[in-house]
Amino acid sequence: MKGLTELNYLNDHPFSYANLGPALSTPVLPEPLTHPYLIHINQSLAKRLGIDIQNEAALLSMISGSQMLPKWKPLAMKYAGHQFGQYNPDLGDGRGVLLAEFIAPNSAKLEDKKWDFHLKGSGQTPYSRQGDGRAVLRSTVREYLISAAMKGLNIPTTEALVMVGSRTQVQREDIEFAATLLRVAPSHIRFGHFEYLFYTGQHPALAALADHVMYWHMPEINPQSTDKYAQFFQQVVTSTANTLAQWHAYGFCHGVMNTDNMSILGLSFDYGPFAFLDNYQPSFICNHSDYSGRYAFDQQPGIGQWNLSALGYSLSNLIDKQAIETILQSYSSQLHSQYKRLMRVRFGLISEQDNDRELLNDGLSLMEKHDLDYHYTIRRLSEVDSGQWQHMFKHEVTLKLNHLDFKHWLSRYQDRLSLDYTSDKVRQHAMQQVNPKYLLRTHLAQEAITLVERGQFSVIEQWLTVLEDPFRSHDCPAHWAMPPSAKQKGHSLSCSS
Ligand code: AMP
Ligand code: MG
Repeated sequence: MKGLTELNYLNDHPFSYANLGPALSTPVLPEPLTHPYLIHINQSLAKRLGIDIQNEAALLSMISGSQMLPKWKPLAMKYAGHQFGQYNPDLGDGRGVLLAEFIAPNSAKLEDKKWDFHLKGSGQTPYSRQGDGRAVLRSTVREYLISAAMKGLNIPTTEALVMVGSRTQVQREDIEFAATLLRVAPSHIRFGHFEYLFYTGQHPALAALADHVMYWHMPEINPQSTDKYAQFFQQVVTSTANTLAQWHAYGFCHGVMNTDNMSILGLSFDYGPFAFLDNYQPSFICNHSDYSGRYAFDQQPGIGQWNLSALGYSLSNLIDKQAIETILQSYSSQLHSQYKRLMRVRFGLISEQDNDRELLNDGLSLMEKHDLDYHYTIRRLSEVDSGQWQHMFKHEVTLKLNHLDFKHWLSRYQDRLSLDYTSDKVRQHAMQQVNPKYLLRTHLAQEAITLVERGQFSVIEQWLTVLEDPFRSHDCPAHWAMPPSAKQKGHSLSCSS
């Protein structure tokens, strides 16, 4: 374990982000928050990285932007991107800075050895356009919690190490208070970084950026290999397909899948108006500014492909066009096979039977038709003896279970499971390992925000404990494991954060 001052920072490393040159970054100091207060430190993440955080006063002054460590050389990253299908050249870190890159002390045990500290909500930068450079408390709490939630579900994600609140006022629909969050990820490079360099004709810098990503994150690619950029693109396609499959299997809606919000490592990234599905409703739109439903839940896999095509186009000086096409074509089959695998596991299927696909699709269609909660339904199937399902659903989940079609489906499913299991207990155990009992649902995140706004910060620690392992039972409020009431259900969220 090492303290923040002792970390191995990459300031002079030839492959640091800062070393990629002024086209991709501008040095910017954070603007200090007024009357900052510490809300939470994610000590379990600190421990995983091998970072020892003891001095809370010093940490507060850093994360509120008033004191930088001498080795931190904060910079705003420049990128561009397609927003709702339109190219916008003027993007970049408008309300955040890359504070530092470092080698994690625990890197031997981690998938990546290089990590970034990124301070979100740190004030204006040259890329702020009309914005104030701030993040409001409510969106900061949401990002802090969802980062832990995704990690707990084993979905690739950026993480959040520290959260700070303040009395700095910011104007949104109402006046709100600003907060900051210390985001931690192996890389903050986005598809939009490559698009920016391509559309401004900076081709050597574009190659250097891809080399940087390969150097740190794709060590298996031989830098001497003549098709190294094709291998690089293939890895981006594969990791994006994997993450999108996980989102789909776990009912996660990102809400703003612009190419500037797409991580080159396939991490779930730049959380805004995200939501998990409550009812199984594939056309659900979580972002209330998304009038056309471009980023509706069931559009996300296709948008992943669209975004990868935009990235592929911006790599067209490095990779043969035919190779780009071939690699892009692999996206859909990778996504579908991964999704299929995850759904089979969620439903406890082991052997491959002819009608499995139909059975699962029928189950999902019935959930949609009868307004059943996606996660709660599957979780209860995993908790209750299959012999009790008919009774349980009738009395517990919904009286709509008088519907014959669902009763019939439960019998089919029960028969199918009997091919794979001789003991219902074994099936239940297997299913409970992959079907979360707790989920950061929109109304529950809102409840946590209200408590934090009242100064009750302990709710964050309590949620983090639950979200770190959402598959087992925790000593927490019972309603955290329940679906929302009709009134609490399915709200879309504002992008204004
Ligand atoms: P987002 O919708 O959060 O992905 O942000 C899109 C772009 O707008 C990025 O370049 C952000 O840095 C910038 N941005 C978002 N909110 C603000 C803000 N309050 N102040 C300055 N820039 C912002
Ligand atoms: Mg963004």
